[in-house]
Amino acid sequence: MTLDVLDLARDLIRRPSVTPADAGAMDVLHRALEGMGFTCRRMKFGEIENLYARRGTARPNLCFAGHTDVVPVGDAAAWTSGPFAADINSDDVLVGRGAVDMKGSIAAFVAAVAQVGETSGSLSFLITGDEEGVALDGTRKVVEALQAEGEIIDHCIVGEPSSAERLGDMIKIGRRGSVNSWITVSGKQGHVAYPHRAANPIPVLVDILSRLQARVLDDGYEGFQPSNLEVTTVDVGNTATNIIPAEAKARINIRFNPAHRGAELQAWIEGQAAEAGAGFAGRVEVTTLISGEAFLTRRGEFTDVVAEAIRETTGEEPDLSTTGGTSDARFIRDLCPVLEFGLVGQTMHAVDEQVPVSQLRALQATYAAIIGRYFERFGDASA
Ligand SMILES: [Zn+2]
Repeated sequence: MTLDVLDLARDLIRRPSVTPADAGAMDVLHRALEGMGFTCRRMKFGEIENLYARRGTARPNLCFAGHTDVVPVGDAAAWTSGPFAADINSDDVLVGRGAVDMKGSIAAFVAAVAQVGETSGSLSFLITGDEEGVALDGTRKVVEALQAEGEIIDHCIVGEPSSAERLGDMIKIGRRGSVNSWITVSGKQGHVAYPHRAANPIPVLVDILSRLQARVLDDGYEGFQPSNLEVTTVDVGNTATNIIPAEAKARINIRFNPAHRGAELQAWIEGQAAEAGAGFAGRVEVTTLISGEAFLTRRGEFTDVVAEAIRETTGEEPDLSTTGGTSDARFIRDLCPVLEFGLVGQTMHAVDEQVPVSQLRALQATYAAIIGRYFERFGDASA
């Protein structure tokens, strides 16, 4: 069957699915996949629409993962055409929120599947409506549910806009993990001239932060930058020159490579805070949220298949990178080897997010080549 990548991308962009709204985006995809013989399962968690669709029962099962939700439009008046109009401008460029991140790549993979036709194993789609938001009721929950059922996914491609300058110049084979901590030191307010009647929380907070900053977390990890801690805010809010404040707060973020686990970093932060606060006539509180663990998919047959297909269709030699922020790959890594490959990310989240129509078609061709090569390479490995 034929399915035009541009039609589907425009159809998806026209649904203003700003997280957590779905606005009918998942229905568009559901209908397209059902028409191609996929069994579609809607998995709704909280108010979030999710979809797992599979065609075939045999292994291997190659999964495409992505999200239909988009970030807000920002200054709507600054867009050259409506952010959800999905207009194609005179340069044959599709403009709209989600064109790059990542309704365009979802449409490209669906069109690639239609182009390739039947395959020996299974193809599946794991699509969430909660990637750009807090990501609590999205891929994390779908992965937990699939694991509980014993659903097997052998390999996964996440369609995030991984390309840097030209389509195919970069794929992501890993991501750093991320930890946020909120540190609150509560003392006792008083007059600066009578410090013995007060308990100043600021020296304790400064001590905690300097302890945390003093540690070199590591010098890097195979293919990764060194882990990094940043103090992202320090707040006291004291407007008076003669007052010792009652409270001082700070927040830190750590982006870490696979040399660390979130829980280990959390314990270290809490330990340092407790030591710095020992003997202080007040309270030190630390709240930590592990947003995701670091992961790495090692170079091997799977990354080879993807890189060969990219080379064949785009002429690019992809850089296998671990840079950038977190993505839903952090949850999928619990199921199977995962990598990210998609459009050029330069306008993602920006005003006038856009993709040349030629690039959309090239991504479809590349995904089709990946699917073809994948089942050639892994098709007999069914267990
Ligand atoms: Zn995205």
